[in-house]
Amino acid sequence: QVKRALLALTLPLETLQAVKGRMLQAMLKGLSRQTHEHANVRMLPTYICSTPDGTEKGDFLVVELCQSHVRILWVNLPGNGNKSIQEIYRTFNMPEDIMKDTGEALFDFIAECVQQFLSGIGSTQQNFSLGFIFPFRCRQAQLDKAELISWAKEFSCSGVEGKDVVQLLQAAINKQELYHVNVIALMNDTVGTMMTCSLEGKPCEVALVADKGTNCCFMAEARLVEMVEETSGQMCINTEWGCFGDDGTLSDILTPYDENVDQESSSPGEKRFEKMVGSLYLGEIIRHVLISLAAEKELFIGSNVVVLRTKGVFKIQQILEIIESEQGTAEAKAALEALGLHPSEQDCCRVQQVCRVVVSRAAALSAAGLSAVLSYMCQSRMLEQLAVSVAVDGELYHYCSRFKEILQNVTELLAPECIVTLVPSVDGNGRGAAIVTAVSLRLAAQRQEVNQLLAPLRLSRADLERVQALMRQEMELGLDQETNATASVRMLPTYVRGTPNGTERGEFLALDLGGTNFRVLVVHVSEDGIRMANQIYVIPTAIMQGTGEALFDHIIECIMDFQQKQGLMEQVLPLGFTFSFPCQQMGLDKAVLLNWTKGFSASGCVGQDVVQLLREAAQRKQHLGLEVVAVVNDTVGTMMSCGYDDPKCEIGLIVGTGTNACYMEEMCNVGTVEGDQGRMCINMEWGAFGDNGCLDDFFTLFDQLVDEKTINAGKQRFEKLISGMYLGEIVRHILLALVEKQLLFRGKPCPKLQTKDIFQTKFLSIIETDGLALKQLQTILQDLELEASSEDSMVVREVCQTVSLRAAQLCAASLAAVVEKMRESRGLAQLAVTVGVDGTLYKMHPHFSHRLQETLRDLAPNCTVTFLLSEDGSGKGAALVAAVACHRAEPKGGP
Ligand code: ADP
Ligand code: MG
Repeated sequence: QVKRALLALTLPLETLQAVKGRMLQAMLKGLSRQTHEHANVRMLPTYICSTPDGTEKGDFLVVELCQSHVRILWVNLPGNGNKSIQEIYRTFNMPEDIMKDTGEALFDFIAECVQQFLSGIGSTQQNFSLGFIFPFRCRQAQLDKAELISWAKEFSCSGVEGKDVVQLLQAAINKQELYHVNVIALMNDTVGTMMTCSLEGKPCEVALVADKGTNCCFMAEARLVEMVEETSGQMCINTEWGCFGDDGTLSDILTPYDENVDQESSSPGEKRFEKMVGSLYLGEIIRHVLISLAAEKELFIGSNVVVLRTKGVFKIQQILEIIESEQGTAEAKAALEALGLHPSEQDCCRVQQVCRVVVSRAAALSAAGLSAVLSYMCQSRMLEQLAVSVAVDGELYHYCSRFKEILQNVTELLAPECIVTLVPSVDGNGRGAAIVTAVSLRLAAQRQEVNQLLAPLRLSRADLERVQALMRQEMELGLDQETNATASVRMLPTYVRGTPNGTERGEFLALDLGGTNFRVLVVHVSEDGIRMANQIYVIPTAIMQGTGEALFDHIIECIMDFQQKQGLMEQVLPLGFTFSFPCQQMGLDKAVLLNWTKGFSASGCVGQDVVQLLREAAQRKQHLGLEVVAVVNDTVGTMMSCGYDDPKCEIGLIVGTGTNACYMEEMCNVGTVEGDQGRMCINMEWGAFGDNGCLDDFFTLFDQLVDEKTINAGKQRFEKLISGMYLGEIVRHILLALVEKQLLFRGKPCPKLQTKDIFQTKFLSIIETDGLALKQLQTILQDLELEASSEDSMVVREVCQTVSLRAAQLCAASLAAVVEKMRESRGLAQLAVTVGVDGTLYKMHPHFSHRLQETLRDLAPNCTVTFLLSEDGSGKGAALVAAVACHRAEPKGGP
């Protein structure tokens, strides 16, 4: 019989595994919006979104409402990693009836305690922020707004359920005329525990309370907590797992003893998990085992066992001593004799066994719950392994080495993917509450400063309208022969008069020079479409910034290499040259370089015809089979290549290393070229927009810093707000400013972040990806030797978002000016037009394109703009321009 009883209370590993699985299910139910209200494991959001970083500082008050007393603490956080926290506390016993009295009486009592405490420490005038530890289930809406769902333990004060307890406390405090005491934060005791333990260096992200009751909280990914709006960062979730099993999910492991304990409790059917795990109930379970064994004549033969009918005769201290002490059986004997029983030696041994098995089960079940939480964290952070510290508080953990050992071992077995460090909490919740309060104050202050710093980068609709109007004005200035020289947007004629019509044929060479990659291509245009082969060649910085001769020699060498590899040495193929720098074009095959951009500065080229430079280099290299028929800008190439598929494509847009656009303008508007018939493609060179000072209001300090460090300072100012070569740099400068202001990385200097271009624009794309787990973001930052807390990561993401949003919006404002001008010139109420787009930033950034399109729709509501991604526009486009040119040059009646 004894064996059978012990066996019923022993849970094999497979069962614990199953319990873990059910806990996980219950947690998911609590997190989901649909099922939250009816979930047993409520997963209550706490609105605590961060763990302390040690810079928290100041004097705080804490009120802790406990089972039979109120504890008031004064805590001083020194702000130095919180190594030498000072605290003074006092406990006030509660009048016995108050727990069942009115809510007003309870809160008045608490406020009186605060009043007495403050006069006790002689500090009635100082301003205090107060943290309130309120260990009951609340529906929290903010850190300082929490409705009581229901009382528990011995409490049942009237008029409190459904009310905001922060307000009730604040009102009572005000009644005491303590106007300088502000209730800032309300939290559960479990959360307090987690916060205290976070002090010891690395943050604790989980807390487990193994005391009279049981509970657990942890830092969850906010996007998975459906009841809150927050979608980035983390939030501490108070699981309230004591009610796990109230829907019957644990019925297969409940023993008759558990049923008896439940029936005799004040809330039958509720808190089933807690009733197996909480120390309040362990003595009761043991008592029922003993009753049953005595009835079966397995124990206390000859004793009168009526005493076992009395609730609460086994105290948890006795049980722990029976388990823990060397003379456990002697302890058992003493305890049993004190109850008037006459135990035999064997009885004492058996009682000890029962105590062990009941406490072990509590530990194993706690481990099953904990491992569910840990596995969930590991999964939701998309990690293969999670290293985590778990703060543990409560008498079972502190005073029972058996409990501790089983908790550790079983958790390791059930969540093998997690490396768990259990951290015992020393007076958990009091300090923790002070820290939560301090953290929330610190975050509020920081938020304000971060907002201030980013404000100049945030553009209103009016700002964007102004940019649009300015761009329109600059376009007009650039097109007019008289004013062209004063315009920052050059509006260069390209001599491209039409987009392809699909009848172009032939085989062409193409070059793409003008940014990150230099490429040579062979393009075959036929009835079946376009086929091409290409190769990327590196242009070393030394050549980009060396002499023009060296640059063009290098280009010819690359062409020769390519022709050799492709077996094209013997043929003379027409060549289209995509040259993506501002050029004054004299004809389709004559383009004078106006200035370099995007990191190029080869000498002796500005003012020269680049086709001529290419031909001269060919001569130097004795490469005679080269026939350059057209030079085009990459915007034009992009428009042409998309135009091949969509005749509506009359705009080309690039957002890559640099940014630029071209569009088909009415010849009558182009004052810089003879003739009024038809249209011509205008290469806007909009990257230089603002170089005449018209955008000065929009440049921030960070843009200034980025500009100063470029090789073309003061030039291409618009491009430097938008394109891939610069966005990372802007972010880097903002991050440095935030560090300087102690708003990031705890103000710790970041030497690696001082390096120019270390923060690549592609990081923005990664960091802004939706649903990126916080840990992944932290990993990126780690590569830059930045130790980012979760708030740091959120701030970094916000900076990236602000910078890339501004870029997309500015691009949209300029594009709005273009489409509106096209619509007006054509005298249309509505314009439908397609934009051919190229550039890695546009293509790879997760939000750039849709933000651009959204803003454009808003700013140019009478234009329906479709965006078509160009597939290798600059290569294909150059060939098509060459094809169109050859087509035209061919004698009439040719093939
Ligand atoms: P180019 O404009 O020189 O023809 P690309 O269109 O490929 O070349 O653009 C290169 C630029 O794209 C680089 O400045 C780089 O910073 C940026 N970039 C590269 N990868 C990404 C990415 N994943 N997200 C955003 N920008 C990127
Ligand atoms: Mg390109």
